[in-house]
Amino acid sequence: MKRISRIAVSLFVVLLAGVLLASLAAMAAGGPSVEKIKQRGELKVGVKADVLGFGFKNLQTGEFEGYEIEIARRIAKEILGDAKKIEFVPVTAKTRAALLDNGEVDMVIATFTITPERRKIVDFSPVYYTDGIKLLVKKDAGIKSLKDLDGKVIGVAKGADTANRLKQQGEKLGASLRFAEFETYPEILSALQAGRVQAFSTDGSILKYYESLDKSTVLLPQRYSAEEYGVTTKRGNDDLRDLVARVITDLDKSGELDRLQDKFGIASEK
Ligand code: GLU
Repeated sequence: MKRISRIAVSLFVVLLAGVLLASLAAMAAGGPSVEKIKQRGELKVGVKADVLGFGFKNLQTGEFEGYEIEIARRIAKEILGDAKKIEFVPVTAKTRAALLDNGEVDMVIATFTITPERRKIVDFSPVYYTDGIKLLVKKDAGIKSLKDLDGKVIGVAKGADTANRLKQQGEKLGASLRFAEFETYPEILSALQAGRVQAFSTDGSILKYYESLDKSTVLLPQRYSAEEYGVTTKRGNDDLRDLVARVITDLDKSGELDRLQDKFGIASEK
């Protein structure tokens, strides 16, 4: 009887050690979602193609450039040991969550604001940049602030949180705002040029590029919100979420995020 229980105890110990070793090995590899990226040998990242300084496709070289692109490269280096093993997939405010959900990208680094509602659907890293909603208007329209848009139409992108936030600001100012939603930002610029909307609104970082495309427009200086950007991963991919959080925290603590913002001329107005 004694012998049998000794055998049982030894078997149990061996089993426990096996389980411990296996989980240690999984931890070293980074867990299932990180392991999947390692096996593929390439990190897939959803980025913007039209946000200068953040995620921008240089049409001359065909390369993606900007602050968010550099962050993506640091994450690729951490996972795969090579900052070049990366595929950039252009996304818009409307498409980014779906691309993440259906697994076409491992993460999204695309001016994606952290909000409590979105936290229910996706995971976010700590904040890597803070921006704010602004207004792009025609120079000759005589519009100086949000209050002047009382009764007028503001063009916003589908999938963006812009209208929600501006509505709250409008209520405070006693201005009743109307909104028109568009699939993409270039379509909102066209609508502004055609007079179908009286303002084009989204984050200042995004609007800067569209202001540069049309000299008859002006970006009003006032910010109407604090947009805190986070790297987004699919819910359930906890190992990847934790790894990304660690990379962002390290880049922040070492001062590298500030250096990168200076490099791309986007040092945030803190
Ligand atoms: N950052 C804002 C948002 O996430 C604007 C949309 C965008 O990033 O294009 O709602």
